Amino acid sequence: MTKAETETTKPVKRLGSLAYYKTGGTCARLYLPKSIEEIQSAVREIRSLSQPFFVLGGGTNSLVCDDTWPGAVIALTHMGGLHALDKNGGIFCEAGVDNSEFARFAVDHGLTGAGWMNRLPGQMGGTVRMNARCYGGEISQIVKKITCVDMKGEVVVHDEPTKVFRGYKDTSFMQTGEIIAAVEIKLEPGDTAATQELMKFCEDDRVLKGQFTHPSCGCVFKNDYTVGVPSGMLLEATGIKSLTRGSAAISPQHANFVFNLHGAASSRDIVELTLMMREAVYTRFGVWLEYEMEILGELPDDLAKSLREVRARKPETPELAVLRAKFSAKPASKP
Ligand SMILES: Cc1cc2nc3c(=O)[nH]c(=O)nc-3n(C[C@H](O)[C@H](O)[C@H](O)COP(=O)(O)OP(=O)(O)OC[C@H]3O[C@@H](n4cnc5c(N)ncnc54)[C@H](O)[C@@H]3O)c2cc1C
Repeated sequence: MTKAETETTKPVKRLGSLAYYKTGGTCARLYLPKSIEEIQSAVREIRSLSQPFFVLGGGTNSLVCDDTWPGAVIALTHMGGLHALDKNGGIFCEAGVDNSEFARFAVDHGLTGAGWMNRLPGQMGGTVRMNARCYGGEISQIVKKITCVDMKGEVVVHDEPTKVFRGYKDTSFMQTGEIIAAVEIKLEPGDTAATQELMKFCEDDRVLKGQFTHPSCGCVFKNDYTVGVPSGMLLEATGIKSLTRGSAAISPQHANFVFNLHGAASSRDIVELTLMMREAVYTRFGVWLEYEMEILGELPDDLAKSLREVRARKPETPELAVLRAKFSAKPASKP
């Protein structure tokens, strides 16, 4: 068994250079496994040292904390295996494969069903853990088998996807903490011209919406479908888009996106701005937004306490009813 490539000198590489949001202090140990065996040996070593750890994919849905992380980080960037399993649309994909690379691989092999993943930032492992979705697709629809490493370093295979994908942005991995090493995906042979058109649409739409102008984590808050209005629309309607905190600012085009302007914001700036956003929506509409952004590392106590706060939804306000009517009258956007 090969040992995972490990950087152990202190201070270890600034995690901000690995994380999409460009924040993050140093950590005690950084593991960059290249195989499932190397993930297993990393987990066992971390266990033997009784250290806490977290997993970093592309970091596109996460905020890595500023403070030095006394534990380990397992970054999956080097888990890049990707090959066809058969001629019927089966693909083997390791956790570190970039979503766009996967979408291109699929279409180049004459397969349909993954076009929606083009320009969805992130890696396959993080995408499965978050049950990411966009443009009519959701990763749960195409994953057939998931190979993981559990907290003891043992390999666990899930071949009943309905047991791990629990619905909107919800998977069992959020409780078990299992590390996704690889997945098997099933696509269909089909009309690749239509898939290429979809891929172009996804890219153009994201560029047009300014999603790549500055580092972000995508949507900070989940949608609450019982509210009947997307969180972005609630935020927009509060009129808070000009709020800033240090170098953290709300995207002018999407009120649920918080940018790290020029990579100069701290994770404190970003968290404080998101707390202000959540408060503004509660004050105006009585809706308490739930975070989609994952926190990796340790926040200072004051921020951690504020972030954990939960408030009950206030009774329906007339303003919310107006917004809901406005949203349901909107024509559905393509595709
Ligand atoms: C500009 C932009 C647009 C976005 N648009 C969308 C969108 O339309 N729809 C959508 O759903 N999301 C969107 N996102 C969020 C993000 O792209 C997805 O959630 C993506 O799938 C996350 O992948 P990642 O590898 O970056 O995960 P990370 O941010 O690295 O990790 C997310 C969580 O998963 C854990 N994790 C990562 N890898 C593994 C692994 N291999 N095994 C176990 N746990 C793991 C991490 O510890 C963390 O808790 C967007 C983000 C950005 C920046």
